[in-house]
Amino acid sequence: MTTTLLTDLTVADICDGFIYNELEGKGLFGWGGKLVIQPEYQRNYIYADGKRDVAVVESLLKGYPLGLIYFVKTEDGHYEVLDGQQRITSFGRYVRGKFAVSDAHGVPQYFSALAADLQRRIIDAKLTVYVCEGGESEIREWFKTINIAGIPLNEQELLNAIHSGPFVTKAKETFSNSANVQMQKWKAYVKGNEKRQEILRTALEWVSKGHVEEYMSAHRHDADIAELRTYFETVIDWADGVFPGMYDEMCGLEWGRLYETYHANAYDPEAVWARVKALYADEFVRNRRGIFEYVLGGEKDTRLLDVRVFDPKETKAVYAKQTADAEKKGVSNCPLCAVGHDANATRIWKFNEMDADHVTPWSKGGATDISNCQMLCKTHNRAKGNR
Ligand SMILES: [Zn+2]
Repeated sequence: MTTTLLTDLTVADICDGFIYNELEGKGLFGWGGKLVIQPEYQRNYIYADGKRDVAVVESLLKGYPLGLIYFVKTEDGHYEVLDGQQRITSFGRYVRGKFAVSDAHGVPQYFSALAADLQRRIIDAKLTVYVCEGGESEIREWFKTINIAGIPLNEQELLNAIHSGPFVTKAKETFSNSANVQMQKWKAYVKGNEKRQEILRTALEWVSKGHVEEYMSAHRHDADIAELRTYFETVIDWADGVFPGMYDEMCGLEWGRLYETYHANAYDPEAVWARVKALYADEFVRNRRGIFEYVLGGEKDTRLLDVRVFDPKETKAVYAKQTADAEKKGVSNCPLCAVGHDANATRIWKFNEMDADHVTPWSKGGATDISNCQMLCKTHNRAKGNR
């Protein structure tokens, strides 16, 4: 791979023929049509938040460098922006009058309203551009390791770059597209920002059972994303069917894993939802996100709920009373040892040799308060298990 450093390219050069697609939020072309600003592996434009795009323009007005920009020279003699798309789109939009920047007096100023010397300062600003030429694989490998200015790419954005092709293009049209009418429904179950490829990430994790990179590599040249999309929608539809209601905690659960583990079971959605609501109202349930799997699994694994444990003050009081009673009777202070026939039948355990136990298990409606608390020796408590 060869790299050439360009230091004479100016903002004006890049803005020559700059085209921005407002609908797609993309900077498309510049530099007289020679430059493809957003090739398919690049991120959507996310600087248009009135802060980062403004910061780019302010840097130019102050004469600060914008940092390294990387182009790839393609075989047909065009250039693609490998890194710097966000910065180029920001100044391109400003020069085209798409947004204003407040001056020292707080007055918003569009490019066309700037004093001529300030306009010149922007459009004459020189950029530092590395132009890379080489094999596709070399460039992708290198892109993975360059130190990226601005917002670092997240893992999925990098994978999109490395495995770019028809599959990624189609996948982004579906999963990275805010205008997708399904997006709102999906985001009730999947956490993240579609523009940062986080919905796509989850869809890929589900269908690949966590082997995202292998999956992308295997499907890179696929002309469609049928399997990815069908699987994703199957998981969401299953979750929507089994749980006929919505709580905030349902967003971001591992629905792919839950689907794989439980979808062969039959559920009565109404009964399921009644249990979910009851557990939501249970003050002893500390982990509400665990309720859904707890119910799916037949309400066996209480660890999922992080049920409130007894307070140490309560357990010390129970220990003192239980031990005093046991000593009076000459039996062990562990009620299960006391009814046994070995040497422990009369053993008085120390406080730290015992654990608190729900007399009536929490899962059978027993409360986590002193009236339902007994101390058992550690062996018996472990054997009883069920909270
Ligand atoms: Zn015992």
